[in-house]
Amino acid sequence: MADAPVVACRHCATLHERVPIEPGAVAMCRRCGYALFRNSMISPDGWIALTATALIVFAIANYFPIARLNIQGMSIQASLPGALYLTWQEGHRVLAIMTGLFGFWLPLTQLFVLLWALMAVRARRLPADFRHGMRLLRHVEPWSMVPVLMLGILVAIVKFAGLATIQPEPAIWAFALLAFLITALSRLTAHRLWRHAEDAGLVPNAAIDPSAGGPVASCESCGFVQSLPSASSPVPCERCGARIHFRKPDSFSRVWALVIAASIIYIPANVLPVMRVRTATSDGAHTILGGVIELWRLGSWDLAVIVFIASVVVPMTKLLALMVLMVKHHWRGSVVQRQRTRLYELIEFIGQWSMLDVFVVILMTAMANFPGISQVIAGPGAASFGVVVILTMLATMSYDPRCGWDRRAGRRANPPGHRLKRNA
Ligand SMILES: [Zn+2]
Ligand SMILES: [Zn+2]
Repeated sequence: MADAPVVACRHCATLHERVPIEPGAVAMCRRCGYALFRNSMISPDGWIALTATALIVFAIANYFPIARLNIQGMSIQASLPGALYLTWQEGHRVLAIMTGLFGFWLPLTQLFVLLWALMAVRARRLPADFRHGMRLLRHVEPWSMVPVLMLGILVAIVKFAGLATIQPEPAIWAFALLAFLITALSRLTAHRLWRHAEDAGLVPNAAIDPSAGGPVASCESCGFVQSLPSASSPVPCERCGARIHFRKPDSFSRVWALVIAASIIYIPANVLPVMRVRTATSDGAHTILGGVIELWRLGSWDLAVIVFIASVVVPMTKLLALMVLMVKHHWRGSVVQRQRTRLYELIEFIGQWSMLDVFVVILMTAMANFPGISQVIAGPGAASFGVVVILTMLATMSYDPRCGWDRRAGRRANPPGHRLKRNA
């Protein structure tokens, strides 16, 4: 049993001793430069206060309308639950489910689980299902997309500014604050909560003997570093019970399958209309690129650039970058491997932002619901686009950056960093 807590780098598998660091500091992997862990300036009580605030703001954001719109004496109020209901009623079930999950249910789950876990660590009594809660949190984290939704609200409002008079309502400010709070809370990952529990002495910190040989892996779910009987057979984590694989199984074929599927669906996502806009005088279908051109024409060149980046540049970059990572996996040399690690970090970071256009379509459906005067109806392109985003995110999650570093070390079964390093 090692005395000091041990962390394994998620990108290159190098083991490090988790030494105390200054508040606000970040410990980086000595081998690949990945951020291993941070020490927050915010105290545990501060995190609890932030999470509780976020829950209250979440309720305000979804209870009150986002905006009131007036056209020719008719007035409607648009809210997120209302938008979801309308989209569902119009038969766009996939779109309604995607937006409902990413914009409502998963952020709500994330906040409740965070509050529950923080309170448990603070009370120094972990409930028996803490491990299940943390596994849930780890799966929910990447799909909680309130900041993207907030940007979607802004884009939808700008698109409408020319057609209707728009009066902001309380929920718009609540969404802006919630986007900020959830961005801050996204730092509080499941691994970090486990580290809090380790520091409070509530759970063991590592079960390896650094001098012993044999394969070592860290649990994807809780970050617990442990020895494996062999590199090929998965075992349950000694701490949380999740299955631990030495490397993600079938990573190569899974990523290729998802990338190819996403590339195929990317075609209808761009060719088919994402929405139809009906007014008294016109009835036109809009594709994603058409929407960008329209924003430019309306004079919002800044938002046009943002939507173009989120909807065209980001998905293309993700697909191309994943292909480069997969095709060039035989490249050697630590400089190249570090660049591959940076590229992978970039794909992880930009992951959810392409969902922007899907949210814009849903919100516009709710805002433009003036039958006979103006109406926006979601098109088949929007659901296809959402599926592309989901597939590329799953492909990113299936990719195992550690494999590139393994190859560099000559396909050894043991991670090359089996000696403990003190993090920089
Ligand atoms: Zn590393
Ligand atoms: Zn575990």
